[in-house]
Amino acid sequence: MGNPRREDTARQRRDELSPAPYAPAMKEAALVTDASTPRLDLAHFYLRHPERPDRLTAILDHLDSTGIGAHMTALDARDVTADEVLSVHDAKVPAIVDDLGRRGGGFADVDTYLTAASPAAARRAAGGVLVALETVLAGDHRRAFAAVRPPGHHATTDTLMGFCLLNNVAIAVQSAFASGLERVAVVDWDVHHGNGTQAIFDADPRLLYVSTHASSFYPGTGGYTHTGTGEATGTMVNIPLPHGGGDDAYDAAYERVVVPALERFAPQLVVVSCGWDAHVRDPLAPLNLTTEGYTNVARQVIEAANALCDGRLVVALEGGYDEHALAWSAGALCELLLDEAPTPDPEPAEPPPSELPSAEEVDELLGAVRAAVGL
Ligand SMILES: [Zn+2]
Repeated sequence: MGNPRREDTARQRRDELSPAPYAPAMKEAALVTDASTPRLDLAHFYLRHPERPDRLTAILDHLDSTGIGAHMTALDARDVTADEVLSVHDAKVPAIVDDLGRRGGGFADVDTYLTAASPAAARRAAGGVLVALETVLAGDHRRAFAAVRPPGHHATTDTLMGFCLLNNVAIAVQSAFASGLERVAVVDWDVHHGNGTQAIFDADPRLLYVSTHASSFYPGTGGYTHTGTGEATGTMVNIPLPHGGGDDAYDAAYERVVVPALERFAPQLVVVSCGWDAHVRDPLAPLNLTTEGYTNVARQVIEAANALCDGRLVVALEGGYDEHALAWSAGALCELLLDEAPTPDPEPAEPPPSELPSAEEVDELLGAVRAAVGL
């Protein structure tokens, strides 16, 4: 795993950056990217579609220019195998991906495009999350961030939707189960509900899915009364935040619901569906989380993983459509993954206070969520 040349380069650059070589007691964090030249995902784009290569380029350029990425071990994404895809999806999903790719592209639904390059890009993205999982399960790194696209959390067993082709996180979770893990938690802080991940694991008590997302928003799922099916009842924890959202609402949601749900479930691994589209700068969504707010949420999840599962954490990029928000949120996240102090966003955007919901409204919602899942 990993390309020795890239690791050497990272080590060399790291040494150049800091006179005293960075030498943590153990390797804290890996950064998994597609090492192809050019990156496979660069050819997965469509006109002015918001899910575009610049999103990922903004993150990678920031991690590079700040030197943060050089503190992480660079690992190369691999391709997901056909069997790994079929551990989550019906055969029709890869068939649709390949068929549209062969035709030179097309739309799987009204907003989910493919190009001729998309089948390869999708397989590399899913494989990137698997590499992140594998290095964490092997004990080589405590934490790993898979900076990959296209995203995955809307893709269901049999449907490509919401910019998502293959459900990258769900495939990694199935792989974790195949490796012998019995309890995995997915925390999804993308502003959209991860309907695909919920649907795939709805009746599987081995998976705790906790999502903070905008209420009454795409894709329309994620009401708090949906808590899972059969013996998995109580393992789907949905927190549909009122529009306006804001840092205080998020802090409260993580403190009162997300962390207690993780503590009760006692996962052996935490996987994050990491969308940065709840950011106040995001053009698509209404939840007004600042970079600092996102960092506080990430810190709560990292601390929970430290307490519950020796810190084992896999973070997979999902949505997020503002390049400044992506770059600075990713930088702060990676610093936290390295146990370093996060660098503040130099151009913090604040939401107008008039947009924020009242504390009472948030309090009432969180109380209802807690009651629904028996916390
Ligand atoms: Zn999203």
